[in-house]
Amino acid sequence: MIDITEAREYVLSRCPPAAAQQVPCREATGLVLAQSVVAAEDVPPFANSAVDGYAVVAVSVAHAPVELPVVGEVAAGASTDHVLQPGEAIRIMTGAPVPAGADAIVMVEDTERLDGGSRVLVRRSVAAGVAVRGVGDDVRQGTELYLAGTFISPAVAGVLCSVNAAVVSVVPAVRVAVLSTGDELVDDGSPLQPGQIRESNRTMLLGAVREAGCIGIDLGIVRDDEAVLEAALRAAADSCDAIVTSGGVSMGDYDVVKAVLSRLADMRWMQIAIKPAKPFAFGLLAGASGREVPVFGLPGNPVSSLVSFELLARPALRQMMAHPHIDRPLVAAVAPDGLARRPDGKTHYVRVAARFVADGRVHVQSVGAQGSHQLAATSLANAIAVVPDGNGVPVGGTVDTMLLSTTQWVV
Ligand code: AMP
Ligand code: MG
Repeated sequence: MIDITEAREYVLSRCPPAAAQQVPCREATGLVLAQSVVAAEDVPPFANSAVDGYAVVAVSVAHAPVELPVVGEVAAGASTDHVLQPGEAIRIMTGAPVPAGADAIVMVEDTERLDGGSRVLVRRSVAAGVAVRGVGDDVRQGTELYLAGTFISPAVAGVLCSVNAAVVSVVPAVRVAVLSTGDELVDDGSPLQPGQIRESNRTMLLGAVREAGCIGIDLGIVRDDEAVLEAALRAAADSCDAIVTSGGVSMGDYDVVKAVLSRLADMRWMQIAIKPAKPFAFGLLAGASGREVPVFGLPGNPVSSLVSFELLARPALRQMMAHPHIDRPLVAAVAPDGLARRPDGKTHYVRVAARFVADGRVHVQSVGAQGSHQLAATSLANAIAVVPDGNGVPVGGTVDTMLLSTTQWVV
């Protein structure tokens, strides 16, 4: 058995970031910038009103209440040639350009429309500059907005659009082929024949692949047949950037994944000192035009498959996308009930329910059944506690915990 650290280093050292590509900023969300971005334009591009109200010269409302003639109107997207004089007001909407001569906006709530809108009563004075959003208030032209390596969140993508960075250089999303192996698997809803089970790993792993920021490609169930599997793997290597298989990597007589991949690819078959997910395979398969396509051979037991993906495939796939955070956040959590275990030479990855408690710390509790076939209990976990070899975590003890989900938090 090898250490998880050794397995991880082996995998990560063979999964470098992909080559940069140019994409429209509208398609860049969720990717990572491969080049820094300098703002080509000011945002906002012109001084505009922050409110609906009346553009004025501040001195003319200094002694409010005061009545002013309304000499025009300007809506968002429009403009006016009128140069505002002291003693005049122009009706203005949010986002409309501030007319020349005006230096402040009185919000509509502080006014009263008179004579059908031809005059306005201003009830309150405003200082010069109030409710005027200046040119470049948000972004100054020429500013280095983002460095290479920045994750493009929805807000970052919005900013890129706002400065007209219409095309940006990014590390593209990894296209990951996912296939399940096993003659016992069915996914067509038909009544189960003796020995058959419903296939579940593919849907789970495709979801995990997408959650990691990759593009998942469903290659279905592949029978335990060497020729069929070989054809499926070759096709996947030609059309995808990475391959995730589940099943057939342990010591069984029908573990054809092992037989086929050993022939096709430069594979390393590992027994990792962890529980669950001891068997794991990784290698590089030659794809079209000599590309090396990483293959992650995950075990078939559903919980093992998921944990194996989390510990080894997910960080590698995120590294291929140059993601600044390839790992889940790790926190030192408290286990109020402890997490019991016996020494067996392995690190245990215990599925837990994590929640923030009043003192600001994270508390974790086992979700119950921890068998590698018991996906239902694991499905209730939002975190994985890393319990080192030994006698477990004592009651109230601390345990390093990987936080899986930010949407399933019980606060
Ligand atoms: P294997 O790794 O192929 O020896 O499979 C280990 C266990 O996981 C067996 O009980 C399989 O039936 C089960 N298994 C394998 N693949 C899947 C799958 N895609 N969905 C659900 N269970 C699976
Ligand atoms: Mg199998």
